[in-house]
Amino acid sequence: MQNWLKLEPVFKEMIWGGQRLKENFNYDIPSNQTGEAWVVSAHPEGSSMIVDGQFQNMTLDSCFKEYREIFGPGNNKTFPLMIKIIDANKDLSIQVHPDDEYGLKHSNSLGKYESWYILDANPDTKLEIGHHAQTVAEFAKMLKNKQFDQLLRYIPIEKGDCFNVVPGTVHALCAGTLVYEVQQNSNVTYRIYDYDRVDLNGNLRELHIEDSLNVITAPSKPENNNLSKHDNEAITKLIDNKYFTLHQAVVNAQTRFDFNQVFITCTIIEGSGFINGHSVQKGDNFVVLPNEKKLAMTGQFKALIAQPKLENM
Ligand code: ZN
Repeated sequence: MQNWLKLEPVFKEMIWGGQRLKENFNYDIPSNQTGEAWVVSAHPEGSSMIVDGQFQNMTLDSCFKEYREIFGPGNNKTFPLMIKIIDANKDLSIQVHPDDEYGLKHSNSLGKYESWYILDANPDTKLEIGHHAQTVAEFAKMLKNKQFDQLLRYIPIEKGDCFNVVPGTVHALCAGTLVYEVQQNSNVTYRIYDYDRVDLNGNLRELHIEDSLNVITAPSKPENNNLSKHDNEAITKLIDNKYFTLHQAVVNAQTRFDFNQVFITCTIIEGSGFINGHSVQKGDNFVVLPNEKKLAMTGQFKALIAQPKLENM
């Protein structure tokens, strides 16, 4: 049985998208307003295609459903992760995601933990994470009065920064950011504020104020870690939350990453080399099944490795 699934991304055009996915990752994007590459996705609105080996031309979604047992133990019929590379050429809307309980009850969807790894950022780029209101009532009042400068919390970012965005955290990527995002397989987003922009058809995008106020954390406690300083370590654990782990591999010499029980995803974000004899280069994305047990890496590259937690399988 093949353990190595190479994937082709699905692209999504967005009003805030750009052309950095082509400039930076050489992806074959549909337009110069391309916002997202769904690089590892089994989502019904766009599943990645497997491009080589015995599962060639199957979507990741159908492969997961048909050969469930090769991905790891458990009965979950929904592929547990979704990985995107996002080009925020303009500011994204200020938003919040629910947890599983609220999402299932009100939006017929799992909630959304997401984590960001900043692949590139223009000088002086910021990120919106958290807010300055002490209570939900105060948040609602400042929102109603459009006191966004006092309400929203902006922090400077740079390449290599990593953030764990837990449900209830108010957040938005700002113009000039290229980001790797790993998240639960869910697309449920409550939009709080969209700068009064109109979409491609001239309409204001829908806001979800009531749901947002029901799920936001106040006062906010955004978690963030600046991990740029760990680049001298071959393997660094960046994120470990309820749903997944995220590791960074910096390969200069022979480097090994061991895993078991559950599949991993691997995204090459810089350079090129070999993993378990397969040639890899920047922009490549793989699902590697648990039978493979390890990644033996050589060459000069950087990779991000995500793995769902066993209890979510
Ligand atoms: Zn989000």
